[in-house]
Amino acid sequence: MLSVIIPSYNEEKCIRRIYHTINTLLTENNIDSEFIFVDDGSQDQTYQVITELSMETQNVVGLHFSRNFGKESAISAGLAATNGDCAVVIDCDLQHPPEKIIEMYRLWEEGYEIIEGIKKERGEEKKLHSIGAKLFYSVISHMAGFDMANSSDFKLLDRKVVDVLNQMPERGFFRAISYWVGYNKTTVEYDVRERVDGESKWSTRGLIKYALSNISSYSTAPMQIVTALGVVMLIISVIFGVWALIDKIIGRALEGMTTVIIITIFIGSIIMISLGIIGYYIARIYEEIKGRPKYIISSTVTSTKKTAIAPNQYQ
Ligand code: UDP
Ligand code: MG
Repeated sequence: MLSVIIPSYNEEKCIRRIYHTINTLLTENNIDSEFIFVDDGSQDQTYQVITELSMETQNVVGLHFSRNFGKESAISAGLAATNGDCAVVIDCDLQHPPEKIIEMYRLWEEGYEIIEGIKKERGEEKKLHSIGAKLFYSVISHMAGFDMANSSDFKLLDRKVVDVLNQMPERGFFRAISYWVGYNKTTVEYDVRERVDGESKWSTRGLIKYALSNISSYSTAPMQIVTALGVVMLIISVIFGVWALIDKIIGRALEGMTTVIIITIFIGSIIMISLGIIGYYIARIYEEIKGRPKYIISSTVTSTKKTAIAPNQYQ
């Protein structure tokens, strides 16, 4: 059985469409399935729609969060609720092409344990800042140790991988964590489509925050950069020191106030940046050590109906 995990935040218009599209596709291909909709504390009717859907169908589970915990938490909750032999995570807005699930499923049958969806084209949304974004992504991908620009949360995972992820207590990032666990991997390329309804829930600020926490979760490179900068500063200051001494000895001491000021400011800023970076890691340690749950499920619904409905009844 394939578990389809769909994180949903204010997606009342998309729920039925994605269910019927994927369910029809899976039925046509004789793939047994269950759908897990995780309502990430939506303010609209998302959970009501999921509840109704679960009453009309026989393979829908709905989880409702007590507030908005973010997509990562929604994915974790979905993974924890799966019963399938494999699970696929897909966005609610049909930006991830559902047909690819079949392709992924066939690869899984061939024995692959992680099938990653890789974005071929970056959708319209990203055109705006494409050059800047490219540069930004290449730097952070290098630091975080995985391709952040084209990888996505659209993945199919074998039961073994789901079990491993369920055992990991940390607040990892789904996109990167599947790189970290290893296993027999392959990729499937897909074109990012336009969102069918509603609007994207990401802001630029949100994206930068996401990138920073991604880097700090998977890499200590920023701290090492600080050390390297410190060493460079030390070398520079030794050179300046020797130079100043020679000037002094040969009686040509500079007035040098400017130099002193520049150096002081420069060192000061490096120290402040370093403290900031260290502080950021400490904050993350604090978050983890508090050991709060990643999410709170306030209610759940499960399909009880035993007979299947015609797949095209609701289209
Ligand atoms: N999402 C979520 N919680 C959030 C934000 C988003 O569960 O706090 C879900 C959303 O419902 C969708 C998916 O994550 O299914 C991707 O969100 P969105 O389409 O807004 O992001 P984008 O496609 O722009 O990256
Ligand atoms: Mg989207």
